[in-house]
Amino acid sequence: MRAGILTIGDELINGFTVDTNAVWLSQALLSRGVSVAIKASVGDETGAIEAILDQWDGEYDWVITTGGLGPTHDDITKSAFCNYFDSEIRFDEGYWQKLVERFKGRGHTIPDNNRSQAEIPTKAEFIANPVGTAPGLKFISKSTTFIVLPGVPREMKAIMTDHVLPDLEGQAPIAWLTLHTAGIFESALAMKLEPLLAKLGGIQLAYLPSYRGVDLRLRSLATGEQGRSKVASAAGEIEAFLGERVYGRDGDTLASVVGQLLLARRETVALAESCSGGVTASDMTDVPGSSAYFKGGVVAYSDAAKVSQLGVNPATLETHGAVSEATARELAEGARIAFDATWGVATTGIAGPSGGSEEKPVGLVYLAVAGPDGTITREARLVADRLPHKSATAHAALNLLRLELLGHGH
Ligand code: AMP
Ligand code: MG
Repeated sequence: MRAGILTIGDELINGFTVDTNAVWLSQALLSRGVSVAIKASVGDETGAIEAILDQWDGEYDWVITTGGLGPTHDDITKSAFCNYFDSEIRFDEGYWQKLVERFKGRGHTIPDNNRSQAEIPTKAEFIANPVGTAPGLKFISKSTTFIVLPGVPREMKAIMTDHVLPDLEGQAPIAWLTLHTAGIFESALAMKLEPLLAKLGGIQLAYLPSYRGVDLRLRSLATGEQGRSKVASAAGEIEAFLGERVYGRDGDTLASVVGQLLLARRETVALAESCSGGVTASDMTDVPGSSAYFKGGVVAYSDAAKVSQLGVNPATLETHGAVSEATARELAEGARIAFDATWGVATTGIAGPSGGSEEKPVGLVYLAVAGPDGTITREARLVADRLPHKSATAHAALNLLRLELLGHGH
């Protein structure tokens, strides 16, 4: 089974909107055993859409499109399909009445231009939209099924999940699994893994580097149960080989893994963030249930805040500067005390673009973890670009805490 994904919208090809629909659709299809063979994006232009339909019809088993089903004049996907399939339009009075009622239920009068959403091509099947007004459409040609979906990600996902993916159940799913690593560069990781990979037959491995570590995506060439067990055993071997460098699988994040470790030990953590500006706290609080172990944090950006909120000694700032190992240490210890937490974690660095010097360049960061047995610090040179620096710093701080927690196993 092979599929093509076509995402439609001027905002996609002009770079204003990230094409998250194509990413989600690929993963959803892959997990049902349908490989995505091709993806394309076009603007809101009937000619461009029809040209793709003409190329893909008969070539792929499934073609999924998103976008251009809204009620405004720039939404022309439906007319492109009608042209291509030589289809008339009929007005579905029953569906229109449902839309009228739905608006009324929320205290609104339905705008007249929503009528276009009750216009259904005669050659299409209607696919209900559980969360919005634009229904999905299904066109079937000789050997290709076309699923036409709205662009709003929540609506696209709901229609796929409720009405399209169930039709694909029972396909032998393609097995894949992601391992997340931290604290090792892509090239070093590849060199380390090379000998092991030679032994893992039938597995494809992709290295996916980011400012937050390198992900390893494993995919089995076999499908179904056999593929799943091959991927699982390869993942187990890689985890055993890389040890603490692997922090989790699939949906795990460093924050969720740290949270699990803290929960298991009934311990707590507090943060003192300077250069990461609250990103570490944001990561931690993305995890449901984090209130059980995350006590709080201070974004101590100015020297005055470091002194007044976290008890950093003014002499330390004077002698070593705010971006220093000594300051990181006092920040972590200050957070631990201020919040009465088991662990205190601190970040201080130079996010740029200004503020760097020869001795302390942009990208430099000091991290500290204060715990029951004392305080450890790390110096790191991270990315010299402001937003990635904040993100990478938060990640490195959480990884340092994770390693400390693992080292302190009871
Ligand atoms: P549309 O169905 O074309 O009216 O799209 C409605 C909204 O959905 C757009 O304004 C975008 O914000 C969003 N959207 C459309 N296509 C995509 C896509 N491929 N990925 C992510 N968001 C999208
Ligand atoms: Mg659009």
